[in-house]
Amino acid sequence: MTDDSRFANRIPPHLFFLISAVFHYLGPAFAVLLFARIAVLGVMWLRIASAAAVFCIWRRPWRVFAALTPSQRRLLLALGVVLGVMNSCFYEAIARLPLSTVAAIEFIGPIVLAAFGARTPRNLAAFALAVSGGWLLTHARFGGQPFGYLFAFANCIFFMLYIILAHRTASEGATAGIDRLGAAMLIAAVTALPIGLRQALPVFGHPLLLLAAIGVGISSSVIPYVCDQLAMARLPRASFALLLSLLPASSIVIGVFVLRQVPTARDVAGVLLVAVGVGLHRAREAAREPPPAERLIAAALGSSQAFETVAYLADHIGARPSGSKNAALAVAWTTERFQTWGIDVCNEPVTVPYWVRGGESATLVSHNDQRLVVTAHGGSVATPPGGLTADLIELRSFEELDARAAGKIVLFHNPIDMDLVRGGHALEAYTKAVVFRSEGASRAAAHGAAAVLIHSIGSASLRTPHTGCVVYDGQPMIPAGALTIEDALLVHRLIARGERVRLHLDLQSTLMPEVDSANVVAEIQGRELPGEIVLIGAHLDSWDLGTGALDNASGAAMVMETMRLIHDGALIPRRTIRCVLFMNEEMGMSGGRAYFAAHQHERHVAAIESDMGVAAPRGFSTTLRGDALASLVKRFAPLAGLGADRLELSTNTGVDTSLVVESGVPGFGLLPDDRHYFDYHHSPADTLDKVDPGQLAHCSAAFAALTWILADG
Ligand SMILES: [Zn+2]
Repeated sequence: MTDDSRFANRIPPHLFFLISAVFHYLGPAFAVLLFARIAVLGVMWLRIASAAAVFCIWRRPWRVFAALTPSQRRLLLALGVVLGVMNSCFYEAIARLPLSTVAAIEFIGPIVLAAFGARTPRNLAAFALAVSGGWLLTHARFGGQPFGYLFAFANCIFFMLYIILAHRTASEGATAGIDRLGAAMLIAAVTALPIGLRQALPVFGHPLLLLAAIGVGISSSVIPYVCDQLAMARLPRASFALLLSLLPASSIVIGVFVLRQVPTARDVAGVLLVAVGVGLHRAREAAREPPPAERLIAAALGSSQAFETVAYLADHIGARPSGSKNAALAVAWTTERFQTWGIDVCNEPVTVPYWVRGGESATLVSHNDQRLVVTAHGGSVATPPGGLTADLIELRSFEELDARAAGKIVLFHNPIDMDLVRGGHALEAYTKAVVFRSEGASRAAAHGAAAVLIHSIGSASLRTPHTGCVVYDGQPMIPAGALTIEDALLVHRLIARGERVRLHLDLQSTLMPEVDSANVVAEIQGRELPGEIVLIGAHLDSWDLGTGALDNASGAAMVMETMRLIHDGALIPRRTIRCVLFMNEEMGMSGGRAYFAAHQHERHVAAIESDMGVAAPRGFSTTLRGDALASLVKRFAPLAGLGADRLELSTNTGVDTSLVVESGVPGFGLLPDDRHYFDYHHSPADTLDKVDPGQLAHCSAAFAALTWILADG
């Protein structure tokens, strides 16, 4: 499902239809020539069996069958049986009647159904045309070939079933459709075995005849049905039905040139009346075709690969700090995934910092050398070799900083506001607390502090420390880290009792030379406005303490899954969708800056980011305002079914896309329920077991749906 589907997507679906139309009758025309040596049902079975053999070699359909749900299996069994019976009837009919007559009768059924289904003047007119055409073709001839007409009408009924079942098979994407078609063909060969095998036996003694029979199978079944699947996956059923009207007419041409079945004027008139009727009718089902956003949601929930992506990144590759070997492995692996899926992808250079954590410890020398659990903040300078020992003072705000800080370890008392977290505003709580991590070191250094510590910024703790980036702003650089919540509270209690607290702090880390790394950039070209870009992104790097499953392998998996679903669904959006896996969000947004520098001149129409972990999706934060927001809300119905239709106004929709958004492009950020995100985020507990596959599929579905709505609206 790779290079072939990528190639297939570049071909207009109508061309597949044309190929299907030509082979649809060219094959049977050759089959009629075989009738001289082999009985009709023998030819029929050889056609199905040889097609099944081709599919077996090409697609290995038994694998497909094993992976299906029971209802998908039933659909496939039904399609297989219908194919077998339809082909038998068709061959019995063309052995007795002209090809063009059989072809025309084949199409009366869908028109009759449409007329009954939607009694519009248009469909009634189509019905009248088809009935008159059918009357011209069959009038006064029933006496001559009653069985021919019986089989022709039976074929017509099974042809309708084929269209319905095959379209349902194609709705999950062209490549999935072809795989399932192969499985159905195998079932059809087995179904038709008792009817056709005996009559087919003579062919095995004649290599030339056998070759001809295989030719019939390829040109009658493999080529047209595959083309049907490729066309059906890209065309609404109404357009497909319209194109079907060309088939009866093409059968006359092939009948004349290949079979020398010169039609009478009456035959031609009959076939043409049916053809016009087919073109005119509108099946009611066409209106019920789910819109692409809903199809994407169904596909995301039905056959998600997002969890496998997270699992590989988190479990197999592991922590991916910027500049590390693992980060490079993640770039290579995700690039390869896009290639495997058949999506255009490239790497764009990004230079990143490479900070390596060393040993880290804190000992409460004033209180019996109790060991505290501490971790250095990313980018922190090291303590002197062997560590430093100093008194610790606790401050609640930057305003309390003064000369007392000189030579001391400053501990900021910055516990996260759990009321905000429990109220569903965890990001707000985090943002309020995180200022002490980013700015605390430089603020304290301005007053001569020796080192700075904060409370780990988490909403839960089992003595798990929480890291993150420290920002030095020109003041002397002092070591910076976080105590676990439990240890910060221990120190807090000691100080509250008026006791002197003295700490030995040893944070070893090394800032290595910068490393050449990359953003992974994948793209699906728009069909109408390729110069307008909907940017979707997530960062690929992680912190080093856990394996970055929530932050942010899951975000990367959602945007990758969005690309895969759109590509596999053979959906071509109006605008271009560009997916960027940004390198180094955590230690200074290198990837976001490099992307903006390289692409700021391009016309971005929206930027959607995922960097808030995995939970039930609630909606998106957005910078969109006014009429544009109101008109988007009107198109949000597909997201309502997921409970993900909330739009929260915000100026911050994601770090990596922030420069693009600040340049005036509407920004969106996925908002999963965040009440437990900061329990694990940036801590050693950010591991795969925290990712719920069902919630991840829901997040991917919401992300894909919004992407489609913005790219195709
Ligand atoms: Zn993140």
